[in-house]
Amino acid sequence: MTVALARVVEDQQSLREIAVQLFNDLAQATSDGVGITRECFAEGENYAIELFRATAEAHGLHTSFDTVANLIISLPGDDGSKSALYLGSHADSVPQGGNFDGAAGIIAALLCLIRLRREGLRPPTPVRGICLRAEESAFYGRANIGSRALFGLLSAEDLDAKCRGKGRTLRAAMESTGIPVERIAARERLFDPAAASGYLELHIEQGPVMVARNLATAIVTGIRGNIRHRKITCRGEAGHSGAIPRWLRKDAVFALSDLIMRLDEHWRVLLERGLDLVVTTGIVGTHPEEHALSRIPGEVDFSFEVRSQSHDTLEAFYELFRSECRAVAAQRGVTFEFDHRVYTEPARMDEGMIRRLVNAAARVGAPAELVPSGAGHDAAVFANEGVRSGMIFVRNANGSHNPAEAMEIDDFMKGVELMYAVVSEEL
Ligand SMILES: [Zn+2]
Repeated sequence: MTVALARVVEDQQSLREIAVQLFNDLAQATSDGVGITRECFAEGENYAIELFRATAEAHGLHTSFDTVANLIISLPGDDGSKSALYLGSHADSVPQGGNFDGAAGIIAALLCLIRLRREGLRPPTPVRGICLRAEESAFYGRANIGSRALFGLLSAEDLDAKCRGKGRTLRAAMESTGIPVERIAARERLFDPAAASGYLELHIEQGPVMVARNLATAIVTGIRGNIRHRKITCRGEAGHSGAIPRWLRKDAVFALSDLIMRLDEHWRVLLERGLDLVVTTGIVGTHPEEHALSRIPGEVDFSFEVRSQSHDTLEAFYELFRSECRAVAAQRGVTFEFDHRVYTEPARMDEGMIRRLVNAAARVGAPAELVPSGAGHDAAVFANEGVRSGMIFVRNANGSHNPAEAMEIDDFMKGVELMYAVVSEEL
């Protein structure tokens, strides 16, 4: 796939028209017949990045690539020597995903830069766009590859991971894009946090809150981290469902249900205290080869996930979870066996950046509602590496990571307006 920018770019083309054209172009070129697939370090993502590069150049902006093949877009005259405010998001998508996850943030950045160039404005702090690669974990099991690689945060295990568990390795995929993988394997820090005065990301909301609260845009307070177990086994004792009285049963499913109801009650109480918390058991299963209508289940496997913006809340809830497991085990005669615990650090958005966004919202008449992000984003990586980070959410219906993602262009343009108000505040 090659990008054909046959159209004559006119400076009269409105920002909105440019956005619509880019979204349409992406939808057409990266459709998989069901949804959108922009595989990282492969055809779909390469197409998106080339489209953004060609569009930026056509509008008089300068482009280059960093060591991880992320696209950098800058204004003419920016020689890259000064620390900049980076506007960015990711160019990839999940398989059979939606058209707006990631792309919206890059197109927003592009529009802000085009507007600065058109108006001949040179902010005292340079503004640069960054189109990151490989944010989604769907292909290589690791999220935020493009941003993590910049900070030396990819392990040898990450680089050896195979695409969807069976394809080429991440290492081979990166090499195919011309990335010097040995520098990433050596965990070199390729991005100096001091070279960024901030990182601002516009993204569609991936939950239902903004639709429910009728908010076109919102300001993100933080990005939830999580503690997870992919597989926990609750072991009781199998038996005849008719022959064993209640007091002699060690029913693994009843024990797990008891555990889940206890966790739900703790969750409810902690929410009333104002804590940020979501709890999920997304996988539950007895074994098909042995389960039966008339058999007391001797074993059930389940997953556990708690998410919060607060590290302390995560750890406190995890402790509660483990102590309730012990209590249920004692009362119901079962045991719990845990696989390894995976921790992903939460990230707070920078207070100063939140203030700038709130003030900018007041100037453009946008709502200044603060919402947490339940999903992970590259902004979390930048924030945890010491870059002052902020995020703008744009309303989106039908959730995300599915073909039905639906963002209204009016809402998107309000988000761009808010981003531009932050970018241009120093002028
Ligand atoms: Zn995303």
